Amino acid sequence: LTKVNETPFYVALVHWPILGKTGESVATSVTHFDIHDIARVSKAYGAKKYFIIHKMQEQLMYVSRVLNHWQVGEGAGLNPMRQQALAGIELSESIEQAVAKITSLEGRKPKVVATAARSLNTHNLVSFRELRDSFSNEPILVLFGTGYGLTPEVLEQACALLEPIKGASHQDYRHLSVRSAVSICLDRLFGSW
Ligand code: SAM
Repeated sequence: LTKVNETPFYVALVHWPILGKTGESVATSVTHFDIHDIARVSKAYGAKKYFIIHKMQEQLMYVSRVLNHWQVGEGAGLNPMRQQALAGIELSESIEQAVAKITSLEGRKPKVVATAARSLNTHNLVSFRELRDSFSNEPILVLFGTGYGLTPEVLEQACALLEPIKGASHQDYRHLSVRSAVSICLDRLFGSW
């Protein structure tokens, strides 16, 4: 029988604040694939919600229109699997708002875990194994970046920064699309392997 992970966990894709090309803080556009692919893997691994975080109402409204199409519009009857996965999406204007939502749902604040492709020597760095071994009933919120990644402030303020996925490249290449990174992280942390 598959052992199902009991830790209540949440996934968030951050579009603001995000690192821009020259190190400034920017807002990025929502990508269609990120809505669907991360919703599916979140559902498959039992995330309680997948937050899409953006400070601009226009961007959140775009996601709402996509969700509407698949949930109540023409798409609903066409693909019930997709409909089920998208039902886990929650829109949020900031990381703080997502944390507040989880706190109200769970009755306690989540442990916020940030991710990054680059190697950083911070006080809050944890390995996949350490994090997985530390799970209790405390809710977890795992943050993923867009653009050039989560800002240094977000990485430092998180309760933990997860070690980067290193893969097996001889050149230490590890700049994955966020969709790939979410899948690997969820499998390592919450998978039943
Ligand atoms: N435009 C890009 C795309 O195609 O998805 C967005 C890149 S964004 C910087 C990628 C995000 O995925 C990072 O902020 C991090 O959350 C995660 N990520 C990518 N590679 C990773 C790795 N090797 N280890 C951990 N997280 C990684």
